Amino acid sequence: MKIRENVPIAKLTTMRLGGPARYVIEIERVEDLPEAYAFAAEKDLPVYVLGGGSNIVGRDGGFDGVILVNRLLGMGEVAPAKDDKIELWAASGEALDDFVRYSTKYGWSGMECLSAIPGTVGAAPVQNVGAYGQDIAGVLKNVEAYNIKTKQFVTLPASKLDLGYRRSIFNTGELVGRYFITKITVTLEKTELKPPFYNSLQKYLDDNEIDEYTPENIRKAVHAVRTKLPNPEFIASSGSFFKNVYLNEDDSKKAIDKGIPVWDGGKIPSGWLIENAGLKGQLIHGMRVWETASLVLVNESAKSYKDLDAARKEIIKTVQDKYGLTLEQEPMELGDE
Ligand SMILES: Cc1cc2nc3c(=O)[nH]c(=O)nc-3n(C[C@H](O)[C@H](O)[C@H](O)COP(=O)(O)OP(=O)(O)OC[C@H]3O[C@@H](n4cnc5c(N)ncnc54)[C@H](O)[C@@H]3O)c2cc1C
Repeated sequence: MKIRENVPIAKLTTMRLGGPARYVIEIERVEDLPEAYAFAAEKDLPVYVLGGGSNIVGRDGGFDGVILVNRLLGMGEVAPAKDDKIELWAASGEALDDFVRYSTKYGWSGMECLSAIPGTVGAAPVQNVGAYGQDIAGVLKNVEAYNIKTKQFVTLPASKLDLGYRRSIFNTGELVGRYFITKITVTLEKTELKPPFYNSLQKYLDDNEIDEYTPENIRKAVHAVRTKLPNPEFIASSGSFFKNVYLNEDDSKKAIDKGIPVWDGGKIPSGWLIENAGLKGQLIHGMRVWETASLVLVNESAKSYKDLDAARKEIIKTVQDKYGLTLEQEPMELGDE
């Protein structure tokens, strides 16, 4: 077990902000987990689990605790395919994008639209990652995890995870921090994919005269469409910084009367609100509202979490003043202010 001390959270997260974490341990084998948690307990320190750090913002005061960085690898078939269905598993430290590529290679469908989402397999159920009309909840069979309280390895069926829009028992409610996810299993099908796809995806397919809707072709198309988003390898960001807004029927009608687009189920694209509040492309306290996706905030020249905080407040207030709607942040936060 490799233990490092005083590692900046900025170096572990794609927004590249945040002060030092007291200890960082890389988890390469599930057997490391009891030992790593015992190490933290012995020192009476809190533990935080990190995958790729693409949905976490570090605060300036750092983290007086132990960060476990997930490096668990491996993926494969649970059993040979049957009745045009298959179960695939992946260890939680694998890149989600690699798991998606593996699934489409042999024509399996259900995850192709999750292609190119940064981060690890293990984080996917945490906020129920989703894109282009799919989410991990749609295919997830179960999650294997280490229960920190009972010190046991458990299997949790998807039905017990309360998966919703950017939500699960892992990020909402009393079980937050209880589990280290070690592995997931998904059920995929060999089915014909049917258009129409999500607007921008469909447009790409039409423009490029792609009419063979194989999972692999859709995966590649999603990759191409997503080039409008900043690549966290080169540009500091946590992707979408705000969640979309969901309204009840009455409030949806009021929003429509004000000329705000409301999609199925009362969804308002927050990117539209930010763009139409005049913030598209703006540099605010060192944070850039991304020109081709207004929901995304990029850390262009922010010196600290304080700059991000000031930018966030300004964006929320501008949208609130113009549309009377309050944006809610998507990424979680780690450390002291
Ligand atoms: C450019 C960009 C585009 C993005 N696009 C999308 C998108 O289209 N759709 C979408 O849903 N998200 C998107 N995201 C957000 C992000 O990619 C996802 O939330 C992803 O699942 C985060 O994975 P990670 O490994 O980086 O998690 P981290 O940021 O490291 O962790 C996220 C949360 O999960 C917890 N966690 C991580 N691993 C485990 C584990 N093994 N066990 C228990 N808890 C764990 C952490 O404690 C933390 O609370 C985007 C981000 C970026 C930077």
